Amino acid sequence: MELWLREIESDDLHIGIRVSRVLHRERSRYQDIAIVDTPGLGRMLVLDGIVQTTVKDEFAYHEMIAHVALMSHPNPRRVLIIGGGDGGTVREVVKHTSVERVDLVEIDERVVALCREYLPELSASFDDPRANIIIGDGVEYVKKVQGQYDVVIVDSSDPIGPAVGLFREEFYRDVYRALDDGGLMVAQTESPFGTPQLVRETAAAVARAFPPRAYVYLATVPVYSLGEWSFTVGSKGPDPSQPRLPEDAPLPFPTRYYTLELHRAAFALPRYVQELLGLV
Ligand code: SAM
Repeated sequence: MELWLREIESDDLHIGIRVSRVLHRERSRYQDIAIVDTPGLGRMLVLDGIVQTTVKDEFAYHEMIAHVALMSHPNPRRVLIIGGGDGGTVREVVKHTSVERVDLVEIDERVVALCREYLPELSASFDDPRANIIIGDGVEYVKKVQGQYDVVIVDSSDPIGPAVGLFREEFYRDVYRALDDGGLMVAQTESPFGTPQLVRETAAAVARAFPPRAYVYLATVPVYSLGEWSFTVGSKGPDPSQPRLPEDAPLPFPTRYYTLELHRAAFALPRYVQELLGLV
C-alpha cells in the first residue's frame, strides 16, 4: 500500500510526499501532531497537516533564522526563541559562544516531548546547559519582559490556531520592549510567492513596531511552499544585512547553508518581492 502526505497549499495546489512509516500521531491540546518517515526527505514533523521540518532540508531554515540576527548583533548574550519546539533553532543558537542563555517559549509541550523522542538531530540541543525550555504562550510571555534580550527569534508555525497572535503588530511591539538597546528580532514570515499579502502585511506591522523600517530577507527552503521563504527583521540598532565579521573571515562554527557572503546576499530581493513590499 502506498501512503502519501498531501500538503494543501491552496485550492489549486497540493504537494505530495511519500510516507514510508507513521511513527506517531496524536491530537494535542493545540494541534494534530504527526512524526513520519519519508524515503525522499527523511523524518518529518507535521502539524495540522503542514510540514514543519524535515531531516533532509531543515538546516537551511534553522541556520537562516538564527545566524543572520546573531551575526549582526555585536555581542549576543541573551536569546529568546518563541515556538521552535523541534529544537533546530536552539541547536544553531548555541553554536554562538557569546550566548549565555537561550530561553525557548513553546506553547505545546507535546511537540517538545515528541521531538525529543523522534528527532534527536534537532532536539539534542535542549540538553545544552544554556537552554531553558518554558511551556507557555509566546504572546503572553513577551508582555511580561522588558529590555531582557539581545535577540528574539520567532520560529512559529503558520498563522493559524495559537500562532495567529505571533503575526500581529501588538506582539511585535511587545517584542520591541522585550529587547535591550541595540537588540534584533527575526521572525519567519512565510512565502512571498505563496502568500504575498501576508508577507506584505507582516513586514508593514514589523516596520510600525520597529521604526523606521523592517528588513526582509529570503532563503530557499525546499519543502516549504514552493521553496522561497521570507524572514523579517526588526532592529533597534544594527543593520541586519551586515554581519559583524568581514566576508573573508572564517566562520567560527560549522554550517551547511549560512555563509557571510550569503548573509548579505539574502537581503538582495527579487523585483517581485521589492514591488510587493513597496520598495520600488
Ligand atoms: N519551522 C517551522 C515552520 O515554519 O513550519 C516552525 C517550527 S516550530 C515546530 C513552530 C512551533 O510554534 C510549533 O511547535 C507550535 O506549537 C509553536 N507555537 C505556535 N503558536 C505559539 C505561541 N503562541 N507561543 C509559543 N509557541 C507557539
